[in-house]
Amino acid sequence: MKLLEGKKVLIFGIANKHSIAWGIARAMHEAGAEIGFSYGIPELEKRVLPLAKELGVTFVEKCDVGVDAEIDQVFAKAKEHFGTIDVLVHSVAFAKREDLMSYFYESSRDGFALAMDISVYSLIALTRAALPLMAEGGSIMSMTYYGSEKVMPNYNTMGVAKAALEATTRYLAADLGPRGIRVNAISAGPIKTLAAAGITNFRKMLNYAGERTPLRRNVDQMEVGRTALYLASDLSSGVTGEIIYVDAGYNIMGMFEPPENWTAR
Ligand code: NAP
Repeated sequence: MKLLEGKKVLIFGIANKHSIAWGIARAMHEAGAEIGFSYGIPELEKRVLPLAKELGVTFVEKCDVGVDAEIDQVFAKAKEHFGTIDVLVHSVAFAKREDLMSYFYESSRDGFALAMDISVYSLIALTRAALPLMAEGGSIMSMTYYGSEKVMPNYNTMGVAKAALEATTRYLAADLGPRGIRVNAISAGPIKTLAAAGITNFRKMLNYAGERTPLRRNVDQMEVGRTALYLASDLSSGVTGEIIYVDAGYNIMGMFEPPENWTAR
């Protein structure tokens, strides 16, 4: 029996085949899950539909997570389609480009509020909407980044949003534990995706991290996907409110040796 056989999973945040959510979808599909997709903007339908077809996914719905009516609608459709769900994946974030390239102190009020709304509050809103479909318990997860804990160049507003997302994970986990619902977040290392491309000098960050992690490389979408699979499955039945790192060990380091020193060992 496969790990997610008989489990129903709703995934928010598939934009294209580079999305972390696509790695998660593939890992969960291979483990036998029945999957539904939600994407943010109508323009993405043509990219998301072929991906859905590849995995035999028939539930594909647009939902702007900043709009309550769209959230209500997608969960009403999910109830009709699936009846209940076991797993909710939140792989969504947004910040204004200008807030990811200037000084943090220059962050605009509306840009800050927008980043918090789409990247953080949406986890609360999606969780609340999912509860009636998760009466038997389940697993909820979102994606975060180490810029929540340490200052990363140009991550700015998004770093503060990720810190709030991680705190939100703990508060939701405390609320929902008695209902048998676990809430966790995966802290992924840098991966080249559409969202990442919005961060100034992202490629440099990617190279910097890839040369210095204990594993001397970056991670990919499937590695995040397999950790998501663990969090979705009963293998993690005693784990809630946690931030799980999938970053090739980057976060454990206090200081990095310059790569030119390595050959001396
Ligand atoms: P991605 O493929 O661009 O995914 C981001 C998703 O957020 C897109 O599907 C985007 O859809 C969606 N989104 C943005 N605004 C939305 C809205 N208002 N309503 C609904 N969906 C919306 O990039 P990704 O890197 O896989 O990002 C997924 C998650 O991983 C994010 O939380 C990100 O912060 C996190 N993460 C990424 C990295 C990395 O290095 N890539 C590292 C750690 C954590 P639309 O474009 O349709 O709006």
